[in-house]
Amino acid sequence: MIVSKFGGSSVANATQIKKVCEIIKSDPRRGVVVVSAPGKDLDNAEKITDHLLNISTEGEHFRFERKNISVAKSKKAVVEKFSTILDDLGLDKNEILESLKKDLEYKDKNIEKRSAFVTSRGEHYNAILIAQYLNKTGKTAEVALPEEFGFFVQGNYLDAKMECETYENIKKIGDGALKIVPGFYGINKDGEVMLFSRGGSDLSAGEIAYGLNASIYENWTDTDGVYEVDPRIIANSKIIPRLTFKEIRLLSSKGFNVFHFDAMMSCKKRKIPINIRNTNKPEEKGTVIINERVPEEGVVGVAKLDNMAYIYLEKDLLGETIGFTADLLKIFEEYNINTYHYPTDKDDIAVLVNQDDLVGCINNLRRDIENVLKPDFMDVVYNLAIITPVGLGLKKNSLPVVDAINILGEHNIAIEFIDQSPSQVCFHIAVHQSVSDEALKLLHKRLLN
Ligand code: ASP
Repeated sequence: MIVSKFGGSSVANATQIKKVCEIIKSDPRRGVVVVSAPGKDLDNAEKITDHLLNISTEGEHFRFERKNISVAKSKKAVVEKFSTILDDLGLDKNEILESLKKDLEYKDKNIEKRSAFVTSRGEHYNAILIAQYLNKTGKTAEVALPEEFGFFVQGNYLDAKMECETYENIKKIGDGALKIVPGFYGINKDGEVMLFSRGGSDLSAGEIAYGLNASIYENWTDTDGVYEVDPRIIANSKIIPRLTFKEIRLLSSKGFNVFHFDAMMSCKKRKIPINIRNTNKPEEKGTVIINERVPEEGVVGVAKLDNMAYIYLEKDLLGETIGFTADLLKIFEEYNINTYHYPTDKDDIAVLVNQDDLVGCINNLRRDIENVLKPDFMDVVYNLAIITPVGLGLKKNSLPVVDAINILGEHNIAIEFIDQSPSQVCFHIAVHQSVSDEALKLLHKRLLN
């Protein structure tokens, strides 16, 4: 049994949906398919999910993003999108459009409850029409709606978590005809719709793959897989064919963004491989993410995280003051700032953060640090990039670290700091933002070619 998930760009219009249906039909092991709502395409600058959020929040959603899109415009965009898809696929549109228009008017005094229901309609109706189209082309398919088979969730309306008993209900959809499941939402015990966090169709499909003990979880998107380096910076960057959950986690958390992590965790628990593939190039094999692999090479990919800053502190005997680091990190916690690294020594420490998180609070943060920890000196260094070579083959292998330092030294690129992760599966080099693309190119050439 293969569980396949198609993201918003893969189901953004009739042309894409036709590609999806060909993919589904080309392998009979594809037994459960999870779909997103229509995403952006050349004709639509916004995702249907965003329009739905805009409708259900009385325009607040786009106002917050400083976009001038009214509720009326969003309603028109949603109805037109589904109408065009249904027309282009040659499906009868009256029933779906009537029902959709009624759902868009759903009101509840609890704004989150209303938002969850209205926003879920993108996935809901897309799954229904995709199943209809498959049947029209001769492939028997049924829609399996979360509200019908019992995809139970709990928690917040807009950030739900799955209930364990759902796994039993998921098993029921594994038998019989091909099932098309709308991703992104479930229902609570009162039958009310609740959404996962954004990008949550990945999560629905991950839980379904787990519940069915799928042989593989295919995640179809609009990229060829996971690139060894950012292809916007290095055009000849290649796709990594196989990498472990650990490696993708290190690559992703440092700037690669391909997948919802919670979804990955459920597959990891059951050792279900995840195959990231491109709907527009089904002949390509993409990237397979697995629990374990033989480390045949040192480095598999290099990530770059821009826009970093560090807060640097000096204080005599800091290294011997038990609890100093804990007290410092506590202050960052109070400001809800995620800390990335904190290299420390006898009389100094630096804390690396995303500099966007310092906007509007750096003065207060500095003052609190001064009051609580009374450093002898404090400075903030802005505009850094952290470059992170990743690979299982880095364990007990210092050559790539030496190579990295050498190549940067040969090109006079100053290293702001260097730090090996305790797992030894990656190391981090911080350089100034202005030379970071050049540094990435050099490291790519030296470590991956
Ligand atoms: N449509 C939802 C979103 O845009 C969920 C998903 O596509 O995974 O976040």
